[in-house]
Amino acid sequence: MIERSSDVVIVGAGVAGLTAATRLRREGKTVTVLEARERVGGRLENRDVEGAFLEIGGQWVSPDQTALLETLDELGIPTYERYREGESVFVDRARERHLYTGDLFPAPKETQDAIEALTVQLDELVAQMDPDRPWEHPQAEELDRISFEGWLAEQTDDKAAREAVALFIAGAMLTKPPHAFSALQALLMAASAGSFSNLVDPDFILDRRAVGGLQGVPLRLAEALGEDVLLGQPVRTIHWGDEGVVVESDGAVVRAKKAILAMAPVLYPRITFDPPMPRLQHQMHQHISMGFVIKVHAVYETPFWREAGLSGTAFGPYEVCHEAYDNSNHEDSRGTLVGFVSDRFADEMFRLSPEDRKARILDSMAQYYGDEARNPVVYYESDWGTEEWTRGAYAASFDLGGLVRYGAELRKAVGPMHFACSDLAGLGYQHVDGAIRMGRLVAGQIAEQLG
Ligand SMILES: Cc1cc2nc3c(=O)[nH]c(=O)nc-3n(C[C@H](O)[C@H](O)[C@H](O)COP(=O)(O)OP(=O)(O)OC[C@H]3O[C@@H](n4cnc5c(N)ncnc54)[C@H](O)[C@@H]3O)c2cc1C
Repeated sequence: MIERSSDVVIVGAGVAGLTAATRLRREGKTVTVLEARERVGGRLENRDVEGAFLEIGGQWVSPDQTALLETLDELGIPTYERYREGESVFVDRARERHLYTGDLFPAPKETQDAIEALTVQLDELVAQMDPDRPWEHPQAEELDRISFEGWLAEQTDDKAAREAVALFIAGAMLTKPPHAFSALQALLMAASAGSFSNLVDPDFILDRRAVGGLQGVPLRLAEALGEDVLLGQPVRTIHWGDEGVVVESDGAVVRAKKAILAMAPVLYPRITFDPPMPRLQHQMHQHISMGFVIKVHAVYETPFWREAGLSGTAFGPYEVCHEAYDNSNHEDSRGTLVGFVSDRFADEMFRLSPEDRKARILDSMAQYYGDEARNPVVYYESDWGTEEWTRGAYAASFDLGGLVRYGAELRKAVGPMHFACSDLAGLGYQHVDGAIRMGRLVAGQIAEQLG
């Protein structure tokens, strides 16, 4: 059994935890990071699958994500642009394929007008929101009582417009059906990227990737922290009180003045707290849940769609794979497509055998890119739902009414225990940028308190 004492113990070596540890060390504090897995990075992971380089978790960086951009810069990790030359594809409810350029899905004029009107309305509501305090939005109470689907139905009778707008936040971001979260939660998702218009613009939100993969960020942070990061140490028990914490993992006991829980909030209840957490936390944690999406990687000998004049960007609100992109790697002659299968479609896919699931998903990809898409040389499904130390993707959100009822408590320390994770962020919510912001915030608070 390893026994250590440090100023701060950090549970989780994802980007949030490693950012906090790095900052605290810079402030002259001693740290110990306990990570359950045998690797660092949490929801960021580079993987070699049959000779193909894949980023099976987070990967994209957008221009507003300044905390992440600064970190990439500090660590000397260059970025490159996602391929986007050519036409995008839209597949409609009748499975008809349409080519288009720009942001607006090809649709009858009334539907396009309705989408534009909803976009203006959402942008206006988002402009009134401080993403760090969504519960203070002037209409917070009423917007947190109604599902996003219900709210959209109150705004327009145009079903196709509602379904297109719902897709951007439901299937594409929170990865829950639009009846499962509130309109306020939808606004927070948009506010985290500055506006709804930013969120729906793939050239903005999916702008760049890190050369060598985004897991380079946690890998380099952990390298600098050296032996203060202990792998294979799932934390099971935290004893806490006025004097600080004693944190027990499978192979270590760490005494510290402060602890940072730097993991998805759905995982807090997996730890035994002694004494138990206050009742408010017990309640709150039951109103937060992970979304669920399968990230599908299909690698081909060449990026064949480019020869057909396609950018690789594809949407189909009624398709199994609701969005897909050219995800070819930097200086790689092979072509990679990445597609996403979200919420109810993901549930449906996991009821099938692996062979049938692959066939259904590739059939959806073929709808966008033609029959050549059916035969990738490498095929891989990132399934974070089975990962014990994550349990879903991309991240966690509140159920209906939870944001107003509990949101203000989410980041408040409980005794010596602080919380940091992308899932608690305002700007960069559910993104790596938010994880860094939360790591920095908590490290700053603790450094000040410890003096
Ligand atoms: C498929 C997918 C695609 C994504 N795409 C993007 C994208 O393109 N761009 C983007 O910015 N974001 C993306 N994200 C989101 C992004 O990856 C996350 O928001 C971010 O990585 C979360 O970092 P974190 O440090 O807050 O949490 P995590 O990465 O979840 O780290 C938490 C760590 O805590 C550890 N842990 C948990 N419980 C314990 C315990 N009891 N004891 C010890 N350790 C524990 C975990 O193993 C993990 O290492 C994506 C996520 C997924 C899954």
